[in-house]
Amino acid sequence: MPGTPPRAYAQPLTSALPEHPYPRAPARKRPTQPRTISYMTTDLAESDITLLREAIAVSKNAVAAGNHPFGAVLTDPSGAIVLSAENTVNTANDCTGHAETNLVRLAWREIGPERLGDYSLYTSCEPCAMCCGAIYWSGINRVVFAMSEAELNSLTGDNPENPTMSLDSRVVLNGGQRAITVLGPAISAEAIAAHAGFWG
Ligand SMILES: [Zn+2]
Repeated sequence: MPGTPPRAYAQPLTSALPEHPYPRAPARKRPTQPRTISYMTTDLAESDITLLREAIAVSKNAVAAGNHPFGAVLTDPSGAIVLSAENTVNTANDCTGHAETNLVRLAWREIGPERLGDYSLYTSCEPCAMCCGAIYWSGINRVVFAMSEAELNSLTGDNPENPTMSLDSRVVLNGGQRAITVLGPAISAEAIAAHAGFWG
């Protein structure tokens, strides 16, 4: 009949919808506070500085092997180095071969994710967004770095071999669901020295 809306439109919307057969899962509580716990250089212990120097030494090994000057070491809860990894981008022909991502791969195989929450990752340079992602998914909860990403950016510029991102590691790690302690930068000059003449 002209002027009469179809029956479905004449009914209240709620009564037209069938009840969902399964109850909805309760909404998960979402943290509202920043999750990354950050400290600056003054909070580093002398043992942390020593371990950063070990990571820088690994970064020099990477150059000697034909790769980019980045290195990282993993320590167990006692502070002993248990694993190390260097950049392998050139020799492995793998753009994901950053030191920290290589170290995470190794750590999962050698140590296992159930234990990594109590381990610390020391790296010669602030982790990039990719490596922050790898660290997050690994379960490692503590990261200490020497040179900052901004300092690296000033070294590499627009070098196509390393188009450094302008992205603070804390920004990436703060997006996760658990608190990750991030310390750095520290002894930047020593980490930068390993890059002397490398980027042209
Ligand atoms: Zn990286």
